[in-house]
Amino acid sequence: MRLVLVGPPGSGKGTQAEMLVDKFGLTCIGTGAMLRDAIARGTEMGRQVKPLMDQGLLVPDPIVNDVVAEFFRSSARPEKFVMDGYPRTYSQAIAFDALLRQQFLALDAVINLTIADDEVVKRISGRRCCPKPDCGVCYNVNYRGTKVPGKCDRCGADLVLRDDDKEETVRRRLHEFYRNTDALINHYRHQNLVRDVPATDTGEAIYANILAALKKVA
Ligand code: AMP
Repeated sequence: MRLVLVGPPGSGKGTQAEMLVDKFGLTCIGTGAMLRDAIARGTEMGRQVKPLMDQGLLVPDPIVNDVVAEFFRSSARPEKFVMDGYPRTYSQAIAFDALLRQQFLALDAVINLTIADDEVVKRISGRRCCPKPDCGVCYNVNYRGTKVPGKCDRCGADLVLRDDDKEETVRRRLHEFYRNTDALINHYRHQNLVRDVPATDTGEAIYANILAALKKVA
């Protein structure tokens, strides 16, 4: 099984990728994790991308394309995989198509997690996190409350709404996401690879939706 997982922030993409890895024995290829690793190792590329990632901006296409191509050309080359966070733009999709052709690998499906913006905003802007670095537990006023409102269950600190999770920021990230992914999804739709999967329910329900969509592939 060779999959691309596409979904806006807050759609639970990472959780779904993990479940697919367990079920089908796939390698999860997450470009965010690969780039963070380059930063942690202090490579030249890591130094280049850090300021962009700190601001939540996309890393230039050629850099991410190289990271992914290197991985597929290395001894770690996976036969079965789920892409988490790549391709993220039309131009990345074109580069990825070419890479897969070179590698004699073909995608089976592109899972497109669909969720309304208001639902994402409700999910993310309801997050309240403990600001203490040694604790950092996150709760959600809409789904996972605390025993004492506004206080961390574990350490009692005052919970905060992170800048990243504010409604205005979430809406901006969503806008950016669709600006980049509309053309990408259309590209894969023309190849008849896209499976639209509703992602509004619980993690388990979303996972069941994905498995049902994949049955139509097999
Ligand atoms: P993620 O862990 O997927 O949320 O990615 C974290 C950050 O890594 C993003 O905000 C981008 O700065 C960068 N990044 C990850 N994947 C890509 C990609 N395919 N294209 C451009 N930037 C990316």
